[in-house]
Amino acid sequence: MIRSLTVTATLVVTGLLIALAVRPGNAEDTKLNPLNPEETRVIVNKGTEMPFTGEFHASKEKGTYICKRCDAPLYTSESKFDSGCGWPSFDDEIPGAVKRLPDPDGRRTEIECAKCGGHLGHVFLGEGFTKKDTRHCVNSISMKFVPAAMASAAVDGAPVNTERAIFAGGCFWGVEYHFLRAPGVVSTTVGYIGGKTENPTYKDICYKDTGHAEALEVVYDPAKTNFETMAKLFFETHDPTQLNRQGPDIGDQYRSAVFYANDEQKAITEKLITKLTLKGLNVVTQVVPATKFWPAEDYHQEYYEKKGSEPYCHAYTKRF
Ligand SMILES: [Zn+2]
Repeated sequence: MIRSLTVTATLVVTGLLIALAVRPGNAEDTKLNPLNPEETRVIVNKGTEMPFTGEFHASKEKGTYICKRCDAPLYTSESKFDSGCGWPSFDDEIPGAVKRLPDPDGRRTEIECAKCGGHLGHVFLGEGFTKKDTRHCVNSISMKFVPAAMASAAVDGAPVNTERAIFAGGCFWGVEYHFLRAPGVVSTTVGYIGGKTENPTYKDICYKDTGHAEALEVVYDPAKTNFETMAKLFFETHDPTQLNRQGPDIGDQYRSAVFYANDEQKAITEKLITKLTLKGLNVVTQVVPATKFWPAEDYHQEYYEKKGSEPYCHAYTKRF
């Protein structure tokens, strides 16, 4: 994955690799729950449930709404509001959880689960319901609800009380390699974050000034691990003293950064950086709030697992 702006041959080779890569869909990579015919009509065939008939249109309980098909967390009850439209309404999604696409009707914007592509509903802007001026109009049947009180319990045997962390530390293949092997990690997704371009592609990241960093989204089970353990692993599997590069990969897309989800993650990250600084490391890692995370193309996901090889510039180094 060594790249240079000036070597067009790299582009050709990259294109070849992309063309040759096995491209299983996200849906095939993800363990999917079986669906009944009505769920299939809505989630797979992009149907719509009748208004005021769904399980969640009026619910106000605290908790998390997760994808019916793949269990990915989609919305929290904090963003839910009563629009009176007969479907559950949310004014924001969990960062990176929802993909927006033009609806074939040419007017509306369809929303899908970013992880499995399951149809959720549509998103509408500019209606003035809440400060965020956004209404995700979601079919109840596309979701399951995990009450906050039950967050530590498991639904269908799957850990549902998950937390997320997003790390950028050079080529995302290598970062993912190490987190896939870490105890307590439920899932990992490589992608792009921190820039301005919507729906960025890998080529955009390499050859355009998108501002995005290659990054890894880690979903972990806080009953088995914690953010500090994840962040330590991050600092120990890349070189946090290299500015806008990691080994042979040069460019701000390879910058070292922690995209924190909350004040606790921020404080823990800063504490670890202080520890490393006291050990004499000139840490250049950025500590910035998480923005929208854009999952990368399928062929980048679990790249080394598919290839059966090991990272070229992400070795483990004990630092704590
Ligand atoms: Zn899903």
